[in-house]
Amino acid sequence: ESSNRSEERLSGAKVIARALQAQNVQYMFGVVGIPVTEIALAAQELGIRYIGMRNEQAASYAASAVGYLTGRPGVCLVVSGPGLIHALGGMANANMNCWPLIVIGGSSERNQETMGDFQEFPQVEACRLYSKFSARPSSIEAIPSVIEKAVRISIYGRPGACYVDVPADFVTLHANVNSIKYKECCLPPPISLADSAAVDLAASVVRSAKQPLLIIGKGAAYAHAEHSIRKLVEQCGLPFLPTPMGKGVVPDSHPNCVGAARSRALQFADVIVLFGARLNWILHFGLPPRYQPGVKFIQIDICAEELGNNVKPAVTLLGDINAVTKQLLEQFDKTPWQYPPESKWWNILKEKMKSNEAASKELASKTSLPMNYYTVFHHVQKQLPKDCFVVSEGANTMDIGRTVLQNYLPRHRLDAGTFGTMGVGLGFAIAAAVVAKDRSPGQRVICVEGDSAFGFSGMEVETICRYNLPIIVLVVNNNGIYQGFDADTWKEMVKFQDAVTVAPPMCLLPNSRYEQVMAAFGGKGYFVQTPEELHRSLKQALEDTTAPSLINVMIEPQSTRKAQDFHWLTRSNM
Ligand code: ADP
Ligand code: MG
Repeated sequence: ESSNRSEERLSGAKVIARALQAQNVQYMFGVVGIPVTEIALAAQELGIRYIGMRNEQAASYAASAVGYLTGRPGVCLVVSGPGLIHALGGMANANMNCWPLIVIGGSSERNQETMGDFQEFPQVEACRLYSKFSARPSSIEAIPSVIEKAVRISIYGRPGACYVDVPADFVTLHANVNSIKYKECCLPPPISLADSAAVDLAASVVRSAKQPLLIIGKGAAYAHAEHSIRKLVEQCGLPFLPTPMGKGVVPDSHPNCVGAARSRALQFADVIVLFGARLNWILHFGLPPRYQPGVKFIQIDICAEELGNNVKPAVTLLGDINAVTKQLLEQFDKTPWQYPPESKWWNILKEKMKSNEAASKELASKTSLPMNYYTVFHHVQKQLPKDCFVVSEGANTMDIGRTVLQNYLPRHRLDAGTFGTMGVGLGFAIAAAVVAKDRSPGQRVICVEGDSAFGFSGMEVETICRYNLPIIVLVVNNNGIYQGFDADTWKEMVKFQDAVTVAPPMCLLPNSRYEQVMAAFGGKGYFVQTPEELHRSLKQALEDTTAPSLINVMIEPQSTRKAQDFHWLTRSNM
């Protein structure tokens, strides 16, 4: 028997699956086909969860969300050529978001390369721009070390995407079992501390602030820094502002959250501490007129190249957010300090929050039909379980939804992110639901989609139904991209002229029955036009803990955001 085992032959597919298992990879999303089907089968056989998606783009979005939610990269498995190219969108999105992701792509047989093989494409080169690491193992024997390296690089330093190329002949080629040496699971990412002189300086700059502000980004969420940041907020009595995916690191309902006075807080703060948030478009580059000239930034980041981008910081703290926050806490333990709760700054912020919240409530209380965004979101907010995942995308749908829908837990909001990618919603929702099934059964996922955003990956509804994931997809339907038209106006428009000639580019078909897509696969579909119908269908969808639902909510096609202090706020960002 022992001599039999030493002669055992292993396919490349099995070597890949075992190498991934050895690196503690637990989730794989993909679309199978030549030459990767065997890899999916081998992975599933070893207990890695394999989720078959309908498009590689959605598969790569889902795998990257697993990386953000668990700190361990998910795998996206794709076929050669076009399959890999579809996944580039998700690779780019993961890399921009600083989320770990492993893409494994099948490619041409080596001996047919450059001959015009089926789906031949320079895949390793193509992935380079979208990843931290892109390579093809030189042999089956080299697969375990390349996979270990890809997993390690995806989570060390600034997290990101990695690509491993697998020629078709590797998948089926057999190697002697004894010639394969699996690498031990890579160690967790090393935790680095900031320079202690810089920590001293940072603490003294915070102490001297007249109008301080903490900005909590998705880097803080990824770093699991929720306990230390909350402690700092409470111990020092500081106002904080979450970025879109930084929501929930400290709950939105916390009395120190000034999310409802965002513009005001940014505009008048004199000292700002950045916890894993880049000064990119989301934070208006840190520049006037959205900030005071001369505002002092204290930047905490794991990536040295990020420090000083767009603005020269007063202090840079290079290191892990959680560890660095603890270093700051030590300073404030040694010499306790609290920002005065009765300050003028707190009054300015509180007044603005009150008036912004009142304006939002007033719009929400409008009883005219069709509903506006605020009415829809206020009704949804009332019913949402506090521990649910909120996934969201679309222009107004995402921007307005973010101001009304609250997050109480870290890493429970997923949206279009740094890259502003539309089409991520269903993939993210599927990833969250699959992870929740394993780690916190019963936790719900609500996916709030604009009607246009839903279209990008709409067929993933079949995936949701196939795996029976209890996701609630809420389509906020305004018949268009940004804005649409009501059915009567549309009918008038196309009455005497061909739609191909006259249909405005922003238009989508009025009153599209997206809920029937869900019903087509056995899930529950609801068509909703009033607040009462919305309340009833969401209640039913939430009670239905074992089945997916899609609620198609018709809103006023010309509905927009409330008036903004800055006219360029209407450019569909924050
Ligand atoms: P947001 O979109 O919320 O503003 P960004 O994606 O712009 O957030 O910024 C996140 C930042 O967090 C990135 O610059 C990244 O390098 C950093 N980061 C990620 N993980 C860690 C960590 N463990 N410690 C410190 N910084 C981190
Ligand atoms: Mg729309």
